Amino acid sequence: MKREKPPGHHLVCDGKTDETAPMTLIFEAKTLQPLQVGSGTHAVAEVEGRDQWLLDHVVMARVEHEAEKTYLVVPGSSLKGAVRSIAEAITDSCVSAATPAGNGVWRNAKRCSDIERLCPACSLFGAPSYLGRASFRDSIVPDGRSTVVSTPNLWAPARGRRLPRFYFSTGANEAQDRAGAGRLGRKFYFHRRPARGPVNRRIIKPTTLLNITVNLRPAGLSEAGLIICALGCHPEHRFPIKLGAGKPVGLGSIEFVPRKVIIYGNSQGSLPTGRLGGQCRELGGKELEEWIESSVDAAMRPKEEGKPLVDIARLQRLASIYSVEGFDTEAPSGAY
Ligand SMILES: [Zn+2]
Repeated sequence: MKREKPPGHHLVCDGKTDETAPMTLIFEAKTLQPLQVGSGTHAVAEVEGRDQWLLDHVVMARVEHEAEKTYLVVPGSSLKGAVRSIAEAITDSCVSAATPAGNGVWRNAKRCSDIERLCPACSLFGAPSYLGRASFRDSIVPDGRSTVVSTPNLWAPARGRRLPRFYFSTGANEAQDRAGAGRLGRKFYFHRRPARGPVNRRIIKPTTLLNITVNLRPAGLSEAGLIICALGCHPEHRFPIKLGAGKPVGLGSIEFVPRKVIIYGNSQGSLPTGRLGGQCRELGGKELEEWIESSVDAAMRPKEEGKPLVDIARLQRLASIYSVEGFDTEAPSGAY
């Protein structure tokens, strides 16, 4: 595990190089299975012809033409959390949420406590009393894209420890079959066809398209590469990720495609002045493809200390867990 000084805003904006210019990454996301980001609230709605309880999705109210209109949203915080968990797994990071005691998941990976020396994930996504440099905008779900599905109960995983655990593991205790044996780590669920059960959930329908906007103040191009890898968009290691509620029962599969990158500050490296006219560069099409290639290359290239930011073996492993072949199998409807 590597700890480095965070770049700090003065460095990010010093204008010496394009690589640290603030940028906006725009993706199109498509839901491949029902997606629910639970609001923690219940509602009563008509399901199959009669009023039933359901677990509600997060909504946002906006005033339009002097009337309040309610939209389903995918909160930026949910996206950021999902992407962070992947970024932690594919870099030498501390996996801060995994163990309350602060023991790291990877060998020698203690939870970051000094904001002057943060692991890659804490530096990019934030740590206690440090905001981080990546932010994800809330995404509004288009009208008419919600419905209700009935899912199984979500049991506590491996109740009574009689069932094998499915944990992403690494190091000396690495499990060949991805089940059991490994050290506790960040957990990733396979893609599955949803199972049915007694719990109603308001969800976003499959094949819904969402605009996803990520604002980034990178310390270098490799960090843009890390975000792209963690969203399953490395050109050679593509995979849908899992987001939101009901992951073990087949919900939450979502696929990202990069559409546009806006880099603030010009190629001569002048400072962004806040007036963006003529100062931002927008990349799409072929230019975007080439920029993505160089970003992921930067993330995979060994840095001065010898190791690259993104561990290719762990990225490949995650790609195999998140393989679309999982959709051939139905999720378990009982304990998992
Ligand atoms: Zn950390």
